[in-house]
Amino acid sequence: MEFWRSNMPNGMFLRSACDWHLDPENVETIESYVAEVGQTPAGVEPLSLAFYHSYVEWFQMRKGIAPHQVYVERLDYQSSTGHFVATTTAKDNIEAKRVVIAPGFKYFPNIPDELRTKLPNGRYAHTCDYVDFSDAKGKRFLILGGRQSAFEWAALLLEAGASEVQLSHRHDSPSFEPSDWSWVNPTVEAIAENPGWFRNLSQSEKDDVDRRLWAEGRLKIEPWLESRLSTPRVKLWPRTQLMNCVERRNGELAIELSDGARLNVDKVILATGYKVNISNVPYLSAGNLIGPLETRNGFPVLKENFETSIPGLFITSMPATQDFGPFFGFTIAARVSAQLIGKALSQSI
Ligand SMILES: Cc1cc2nc3c(=O)[nH]c(=O)nc-3n(C[C@H](O)[C@H](O)[C@H](O)COP(=O)(O)OP(=O)(O)OC[C@H]3O[C@@H](n4cnc5c(N)ncnc54)[C@H](O)[C@@H]3O)c2cc1C
Repeated sequence: MEFWRSNMPNGMFLRSACDWHLDPENVETIESYVAEVGQTPAGVEPLSLAFYHSYVEWFQMRKGIAPHQVYVERLDYQSSTGHFVATTTAKDNIEAKRVVIAPGFKYFPNIPDELRTKLPNGRYAHTCDYVDFSDAKGKRFLILGGRQSAFEWAALLLEAGASEVQLSHRHDSPSFEPSDWSWVNPTVEAIAENPGWFRNLSQSEKDDVDRRLWAEGRLKIEPWLESRLSTPRVKLWPRTQLMNCVERRNGELAIELSDGARLNVDKVILATGYKVNISNVPYLSAGNLIGPLETRNGFPVLKENFETSIPGLFITSMPATQDFGPFFGFTIAARVSAQLIGKALSQSI
């Protein structure tokens, strides 16, 4: 849960609802937790980040999950023992016959080169690195991006006292309307019985699935943001791109957009999403596994049980989206990952 605590802002709401719980046994569900704390799903949705943390703490306690609080610095395969060795930052070694990696989003922020070169160092941040808005009061922001996180960061910045938030995106501005995720749960649950489902679709069928999830997630903005953004302090610049950014002597950033608009802001936020490149995972690139790890388009190539080309090494979460479908970028995929990887591990003992 570190990413949820350190790389998401207080006050954020989830897009997913109570049905996207974490328990493959369907016991410690969000609905059970909601009932236990005397609430109803309708009463707690949209789920706040704080509520989701409290659910996960309860889930962890009920399941008796006690993580080792360590960072792995490098992960290697030791041919002499046939074991993996994880070296922690405290220089301890953890040996294991099998390793499961669920790296989530943290190592994959997408910062396009064209923005990196145009923006002055230190004057921009990706959304995952800008979650403490205590310095936002009275400041003017430009957010590059036009999907849910762009609009949600805009709302939170305004609430933190930003004087102005402008959003520039290359596409039309999405509409505020509820997303329909009702088809996702049955689709993902069916993967437990048919793990090859996504990979065996034709490319155009895969594109249809990707497009359907993309349209729900990207063409719609949660309606609960609309009233929070209806203020003249917000300005949208649809169908524009950043052309130029000059840091003036007084510290102001003079921005030029592709439609000729000129804006003066104090900080630029990149709501430019995430893009998997498995070699960005530092403990993999530091060790001896990244060379032999078979990849395609930056994703690890996974078998139907999530095992990589390296026997005993399993990878899930966002890096599994290429072989298992786009749902694996979300918590909904944790249950089916646990079922399939759990089965593979128990069979290979
Ligand atoms: C802004 C935003 C909003 C989102 N909203 C939703 C939503 O509403 N619903 C939804 O289902 N999903 C949502 N997601 C997606 C969700 O965050 C991911 O699906 C989920 O976090 C993936 O879980 P994970 O456990 O694989 O990875 P993470 O939650 O990212 O966990 C990765 C773990 O790896 C650990 N780790 C990292 N480096 C090391 C190391 N060197 N050594 C040891 N451990 C390490 C971290 O400490 C962390 O515990 C959202 C994502 C973002 C960015």
